[in-house]
This record gives sequence, structure tokens and C-alpha cells, in this order.
Amino acid sequence: MSSGCVLTARNGRMICYALRSFSTATPCAADKHYKLLVVGGGTGGCAAASKFASKFGKGHVGIIEPNETHYYQPMWTLVGAGIKRVESSARPMSSCLPRKADWIKCKALSFDPESCKVTCTNGDVISYDYLVVGMGLQLDYHKIKGLPEAFSQDPAVCSNYNRNYVMKTYPALQNFEGGNAIFSFPNTPIKCAGAPQKIMYLAEDYWNRTGKRDKANIMYNTSLGVIFGVKKYADSLLKIVEERNIKVNYKRNLIEVRPDKREAVFQKLDSETVETETFSYNFLHVVPPMSAPDVLKESSLVDQTGYMDVNKFTLQHVRYPNIFGIGDCTNVPTSKTAAAVAAQSGILRKNLGAFIDGRPLPVLEYDGYTSCPLVTGYGKCIMAEFDFNGQPLETFPIDQSKPRRSMYHMKKDVMPELYWKFLIRGNWEGPATYRKLMRFGMGNILKPSAVHQT
Ligand SMILES: Cc1cc2nc3c(=O)[nH]c(=O)nc-3n(C[C@H](O)[C@H](O)[C@H](O)COP(=O)(O)OP(=O)(O)OC[C@H]3O[C@@H](n4cnc5c(N)ncnc54)[C@H](O)[C@@H]3O)c2cc1C
Repeated sequence: MSSGCVLTARNGRMICYALRSFSTATPCAADKHYKLLVVGGGTGGCAAASKFASKFGKGHVGIIEPNETHYYQPMWTLVGAGIKRVESSARPMSSCLPRKADWIKCKALSFDPESCKVTCTNGDVISYDYLVVGMGLQLDYHKIKGLPEAFSQDPAVCSNYNRNYVMKTYPALQNFEGGNAIFSFPNTPIKCAGAPQKIMYLAEDYWNRTGKRDKANIMYNTSLGVIFGVKKYADSLLKIVEERNIKVNYKRNLIEVRPDKREAVFQKLDSETVETETFSYNFLHVVPPMSAPDVLKESSLVDQTGYMDVNKFTLQHVRYPNIFGIGDCTNVPTSKTAAAVAAQSGILRKNLGAFIDGRPLPVLEYDGYTSCPLVTGYGKCIMAEFDFNGQPLETFPIDQSKPRRSMYHMKKDVMPELYWKFLIRGNWEGPATYRKLMRFGMGNILKPSAVHQT
């Protein structure tokens, strides 16, 4: 089929046709048509494509994804601390995408939602009946002056957020001989808002174990005004930073790194005037500013903040009903994590499925479920789980705000398996069912006495 918008009895297709009829642009012919087109083969894209590829059968789902390798990014916290190797976070993309779907190995270059078409960097124009966008976030390292140079020149500057720079973190921890160790949190929404401090607790623990702690002045310089967005877990973290003598500097945004002088310049966000504060560093872990990918920001799919404009309960686009969003690139107001993507994949399955069948939405509403395993040291983890309102939504019948060894093993050993074997295969939609079971009494097997606590 050369055009993506043929009128049929199906609801989504009819809407697609109607949208085209008032488009002023001349639609170009499509090179290929899919019933469902997915942009992005990351966590959300894989999960969504898997679900619908098994429903629609071979050849009806296309996935636009440029990368040969799929990374399990949550592993990078442990890679940075020398607990896991970076190779264990990687799998060939071909083994992660569903077999029944076509892999279109290039980048999406532009969106034409009125004509139900996406143009790719290889020149192909792909049309669709339904579109799912799961493009994740772009890392804007270049927005911090001097940082690209610092990454290449200074072995003490590292970042767990990128496959190459995470390789610098553990050597930098090992080579640290004392002085200022600074961990930054940028002035934008980011993925896994706990990760900037997880590596700090691991570093503190590492230097403690290797006899260097007394020589380290550890600082958490965050753009935020709180240590964590959910009070229950923030209270626990505040105790930890106090007990472990970690200085938290709020409202500090990293704007420049001077590798020649080993200086980091922070903008003071709580100052009326443009004021900066310069720290010397001997170790610097940088979390970059992030945003939706430029291609998405330049499209009509985003809201005024630059994220994909979807209904937070159904994940359906607010203006283009045959388009849905999943994961970090959307404006869903929850903490951006793979755990959130898992829960969203169930919402997507139900609501997109209903829309395709011509049934009214919502069928199932997202509650904002997200989770952040806050690793607080080697063998310790607070398992934060919460909803849109910042209310804890804990799976286990124990106080999850306490650092526990059991939760550390969840993070280190159980979650990677859950990710590779179930989430990206479209078979893990978050722990809601288990949470309910625990509430009905099965939780006794996990009562605190049965859990090894640290
Ligand atoms: C250091 C670190 C620690 C983390 N820790 C945790 C944790 O403990 N728990 C947790 O749940 N989550 C954690 N996360 C967050 C989690 O990895 C992300 O939230 C999740 O992967 C988001 O999934 P996504 O599908 O939205 O985006 P991604 O998985 O990032 O996928 C986006 C995909 O879109 C593709 N893409 C981009 N542009 C284009 C284009 N133009 N055309 C086509 N494709 C494109 C990319 O190549 C990529 O494959 C962590 C992340 C990091 C970096």
C-alpha cells in the first residue's frame, strides 16, 4: 500500500483520513505502510512493539530505531561503582526487537501527523494507521560550557548517563586521592532522578572501604530545592547525608567545567541576580541537562514545554487520537524511569487496543506509578515507589524507605532479568497485581523478620 491513510471502517483509520482532509501540506507518497509504526526501540518502544506485533502478526508493525545496541541503562549506576561490567548492560538491538516486526534502521527525521507519515533519515517516508512514540530523552552535555573537553581531557570527570562516560566513573573513584568530590543534578527533568545521588552514596561507601573517606569532601550540588520529590524517601535520604557527612548544596546548577584548573562553576538559582559559585574539584560526576529529542521538539506533537503532549491517564496524544506516547519523551508528570515505562506499557496495551477496536477511552487509567531503587551503598537500597501525587505505592509489606539488602538484590539481580526477559518482550506491566496480592495476605512471607536487613 503506498498511502497510509485509506478510509476503512476502523476508528483510528477514519480519524487519520479526516485529519488529512484539512491538512494544507501536500503529502508525499509513502514508501512503506504499517498498521502500527513505533518510533524508538528503547524500553518503551520495544515493549509496545512486542505487544502489538504478536497481536497484528508479521509485517504489520514497523520500528524506526537507529542503534545496533540496546542498553539497559539502569545498570550503569552499578557499572559506575565497579559492581557490573558495561557489557552486561548491552544486547544486540536485533535480539530485543520483536521478530514479527520490521526494523527500520535509521532515525525519524520529521513527523507529519496530519498525513500519518514519518520521514526517515534514509529518505524513506513511512505511513501508518497508528503511531507510538518512545524516543526517550536527549542528553544535552554540550549545554555545559567546557564539559565535552573535560570528558576528553580530565580522568576525574565522569557521568553514568552515557555508555562511554560511565566507563570513566569507576577508574575515577579508584584514582581519587582526596579533595572535593562533586555530584551534580541539572536544571531540567531527567531520567531516573535518583541516579545522580545513587553514585554518590556508592562513591562514599567505596572511599570508606578503601580508607580514603577522611580525605574526601563530598558535595551534592543540585538544582532542586529538595533532596528527593517524595517526602517519605527524602526523610530517609536526609538522615543518610547527615550521618555520612555529605554536604547538600540546593539550587546549584552546573554551567561550566574548566578542566585545566579543575574548577566547576554553578549558577545560584536562589539568587535574584545572576550569581555563580566556583568549586575546585578532584572528582566530578556530571548529570547533563536533558530534553526530548530535537526532532520531536521541532514537531507539532509537543506541548509548550517541548515534551510529547499526551493525556496522562491514557497516553493518547491530545490532538492526534491515533498517536500514543510512552516513556521519557512524554509530558506525563511522573518520574521518568523504566519502571514507569513498564506500568505505561499496560496502559498503552489497553487504551490503544480499545481505540483500534473502536471502543471508547479510557479503558484503564495510569496512576503515575514509578519506582526508583535508591542504592545507598554496596549492598543497600531504598526501594522508592510512588504515584502522580508523590504518594508511596509500595509493593512489599515492609517499610521500603529503609535501606535493605533484599532491595539491593532486587535492583542488582532481579530487575535486569525482569527487563530483558519480560519488559522489553511486552510481558511486564509493573507490580500492581503483586501489590494487590500482598495486600490480601500473601505478604506475610516477606514480613520484615524474613528479610535480611542491613
Ligand atoms: C544512569 C541511569 C540510571 C537509571 N536507573 C534506573 C532505575 O534504577 N530504574 C528505572 O526504572 N529506570 C532507571 N533509568 C531510566 C530508564 O533507563 C529510562 O527511563 C527508560 O529507559 C526510558 O525508556 P524510553 O523508552 O522512554 O527511552 P529509551 O529507553 O532511552 O529509548 C529511546 C529510544 O529512542 C531512540 N531514538 C532517539 N531518537 C530517535 C529518532 N530520531 N528516531 C528513531 N529512534 C530514536 C533511541 O535510539 C532509543 O533507543 C536509569 C537511566 C540511567 C541513564
